[in-house]
Amino acid sequence: MKAADRFDVIIVGAGISGLYMLHRARQLGLSARVIEMGGDLGGTWYWNRYPGARCDTDTLEYSYSFDEDLQQEWEWPERYPTQPEILAYLNHVADRFDLRRDISFSIKVEAATFEETTNRWRIRSDDGAELSARFLVMATGSISAPNMPAIEGMDSFSGPIYHTARFPHEGVDFSGKRVGIVGTGSSAVQAIPVIAEQAKHLTVFQRSAQWSTPARNRPVDPAVVAEIKADYAGFRARNRLQPSGQLSHIPGNDFSALSVDEDERQRIFEERWQLGGFSFYGSFNDIQMNPESNKATADFVRTKIQEIVEDPQVAEMLSPDYTIHCKRPVLDSGYFETFNRSNVLLVDIGAAPIQAITPEGIRTGDSDYDLDIIIFATGFDAMTGALLKIDIRGRDGLRLREKWAAGPVNYLGLQVSGFPNLFTITGPGSPSVLTNMMVAIEQHVEWVSDCIGYMAERNHTCIEATEAAQQAWVAHVNEVAGKTLQVTCNSWYLGANIPGKPRVFMPLPGFPQYVEKCDEVAAKGYEGFALS
Ligand code: NAP
Repeated sequence: MKAADRFDVIIVGAGISGLYMLHRARQLGLSARVIEMGGDLGGTWYWNRYPGARCDTDTLEYSYSFDEDLQQEWEWPERYPTQPEILAYLNHVADRFDLRRDISFSIKVEAATFEETTNRWRIRSDDGAELSARFLVMATGSISAPNMPAIEGMDSFSGPIYHTARFPHEGVDFSGKRVGIVGTGSSAVQAIPVIAEQAKHLTVFQRSAQWSTPARNRPVDPAVVAEIKADYAGFRARNRLQPSGQLSHIPGNDFSALSVDEDERQRIFEERWQLGGFSFYGSFNDIQMNPESNKATADFVRTKIQEIVEDPQVAEMLSPDYTIHCKRPVLDSGYFETFNRSNVLLVDIGAAPIQAITPEGIRTGDSDYDLDIIIFATGFDAMTGALLKIDIRGRDGLRLREKWAAGPVNYLGLQVSGFPNLFTITGPGSPSVLTNMMVAIEQHVEWVSDCIGYMAERNHTCIEATEAAQQAWVAHVNEVAGKTLQVTCNSWYLGANIPGKPRVFMPLPGFPQYVEKCDEVAAKGYEGFALS
């Protein structure tokens, strides 16, 4: 192997995690290489270019906090950043820290094997290259492997078929077209109002109705920005103490929905509905735990849907019948209002599932729908999908796919026993997708780079989670998740959207407690890990 092919760290993915990991690895004086399968950097924000794509975390919180000048200089125009704005921001970060020179684009990592004789990872990619590294950091994203359902006749359709997570970079002109969109998750809820305005006709194929609340996007208030920037570090620190690492300026109410009378309950819901954003779910402190409080919340939102949607039958179809805030909550800008348009049709494929794609369009159990364009907004093989697409083999040739056959197991969401020196950024078993992703990513990248720095100072070459620590961690994640109502519906948190995927609640609720545990583990010399 050529000397140039050997690195201290190989990072897979040039999204938000990979970029920051590269920066931190360089600060440690390590040689590092990022391998990215996309044609450019940005991860999620490189791929997800569907109409209306934007983040639903407030701009002032959806940005890196690690560099004071960076966070002071960047200006966001609106409450929620659009996909092009986030991509521009990430490119700015890459330029500012001169990151591009250590990133290889358009290369897909196919396999990674741990060599016990050298304690190094050997990485093979689709360009035929072989690389070797002491540490392998998987910055492959939690929701990055698209889920494209296998439907008969897919190849027969006469028009184009798109997936929201692989949307054409040049955009799509919908004018004069009959468009069909399958799915009503976050991506579809953002895309539907925008496409409906442009297309001749839009048919929405809905398997499950969606709980969605208003985003209430608006221009940022310069006075609020100035106040936050006067003490950005303090703002970030306060956010990290929130359960989902965000919204410290609109904290949740710390009392039960059942502790107030009906009038007061409605007043609080209405106040937060008008405020917009995830703060709605902070109306009361037990919406995610207590079935009665959850029902009161669901009833409030259902009434709103019925008020907004003019046709009572359509309103009924759009009203979910499962626990609210069980699936990942969705924020919208005029989603329910869109179904009042004369060019929009809602089709219930829960009742009459899609049977085939035909040359003309989509055939369900009871009708044929003629279309010019089909869009699948069918989500992702979340949390494990991107990792398991790569043939990862640890000690004794053990494959990660086998190790995780019954669902993901690991320690702290960071390392899998039997896979030394391999780190997963925002892996299953960590708060990840239940948190502002920026906050979760920064915490993981900092923990991993501090760990590598610690090892370098002590001449350790190998770190591996112990089986005992892993078992205790998996039990802990299950116990914490089991106390919430989030385990009660068919969500991607549970892998329920992917046929045959083991049903395991993958993320861990409670960011501050998790950070405390990670810090404690590090302070105790990486307790639960074997260092050699
Ligand atoms: P998603 O939430 O998983 O939604 C997928 C939709 O497709 C659901 O309505 C699902 O129905 C439907 N579906 C899946 N497989 C299907 C099949 N075989 N036949 C028919 N319908 C099918 O995916 P997403 O909307 O792309 O969002 C995924 C996650 O990405 C979000 O939860 C969020 O974390 C993130 N995201 C964030 C933003 C943002 O920041 N604003 C925007 C987009 C995405 P069921 O509900 O019945 O499964």
